[in-house]
Amino acid sequence: MNIHEYQAKEVLRKFGVATLKGQVANSPEEAVAAAKQIGGNLWVVKAQIHAGGRGKGGGVKLAKTLDEVRDLTKQMLGMTLVTHQTGPEGKVVQKVFIEAGCNIAKEYYVACLIDRATGRVTMMASSEGGMDIEEVAEHNPDAIKKVDIDPVTGLGAWQARELAFAIGMQPEVVGKAVKFMTGLYEAFVKCDCSIAEINPLVVTKENDVLCLDAKMNFDSNSLYRQPQILEMRDLNEEEPTEIEASKFDLAFIKLDGNIGCLVNGAGLAMATLDIIKLHGATPANFLDVGGGANKEKVTNAFKIILKDPNVKGILVNIFGGIMKCDVIAEGVIAASKEVGLKVPLVVRLEGTNVELGKKILAESGLNIIPANDLTDAAKKITAAIKG
Ligand code: ADP
Ligand code: MG
Repeated sequence: MNIHEYQAKEVLRKFGVATLKGQVANSPEEAVAAAKQIGGNLWVVKAQIHAGGRGKGGGVKLAKTLDEVRDLTKQMLGMTLVTHQTGPEGKVVQKVFIEAGCNIAKEYYVACLIDRATGRVTMMASSEGGMDIEEVAEHNPDAIKKVDIDPVTGLGAWQARELAFAIGMQPEVVGKAVKFMTGLYEAFVKCDCSIAEINPLVVTKENDVLCLDAKMNFDSNSLYRQPQILEMRDLNEEEPTEIEASKFDLAFIKLDGNIGCLVNGAGLAMATLDIIKLHGATPANFLDVGGGANKEKVTNAFKIILKDPNVKGILVNIFGGIMKCDVIAEGVIAASKEVGLKVPLVVRLEGTNVELGKKILAESGLNIIPANDLTDAAKKITAAIKG
């Protein structure tokens, strides 16, 4: 789950990470009131969407007067912001964050994430802040420094110091940087983050170390114990079909192809997407109905897949382990009848009671194309959507 920049800053502040004064606003009037309360004579109006790269797309603007705050907010609210992270369709701006401006001396990058190779939390930092970290990783990988964090001892002050010096911070700000990094790590662990990225962290001309942008992503499996984080969920920012799917406990991610996939098990679902691609078509979604899928779940899954107008065919790929193939076959038939399926449907079953499952499908009288294995299934659905 993602949250907005202004929310991430609220979270980080609680862990001692320094930020500028700021307030969220839903209208130009609220924005002006916020700017007055913040005080000073320089503000930044920042579009709040769940995507980065806003600056380049016109979603981060400096205002020198209250009139400018009002005008910029008026321009930003309701606009469709397109950045390299939103996809070409962009995202509609529904809130802005009004923040005090500051005198930036240098921008850095700092992030906490889980390194799959070490199985530990890694803190990453770079002197090349403010820009796309993927680009830095590609063209200037030496500019990215990392420390592995021992889960028992947590981030050592010595590690934070090492990192601060490694990215070229001056001795007079290193103490503040250590406090910053320690707070970031604490927030990451205590809030069950999967990523906490500060880009940029800035050192100001007054030698303050501040968080200027923050992206936090949380492990959805931990939300049951993070009620305060869950409250920050903004459904406006999420894909409607994905919200619908989460109600039925279906792991669903919308993609941009035309073959709907209904699979049990995340690994099998990934393999299904790969094999569809291999045979020249593109998947419309990732969908894992889980090991214990019943008729109701399969029906809801079908309905969600069919909400996507791009879907021209469906591939069901189920391994009957905990679930028996005959039960799944019954579920597929019931679901197809209930939703009035009009697109070609290829079903590949394997596992417990597979023969019985295939027999039930064959005798259903429905136009279901049976497949014997993954390759066969991918070939058949690709052929079927071509007519
Ligand atoms: P994004 O990463 O989505 O483009 P950022 O919040 O990183 O958005 O803002 C882009 C740039 O705008 C920053 O790298 C920084 O140079 C500038 N900026 C952002 N917030 C402020 C602020 N409060 N004061 C001064 N400059 C800012
Ligand atoms: Mg940024």
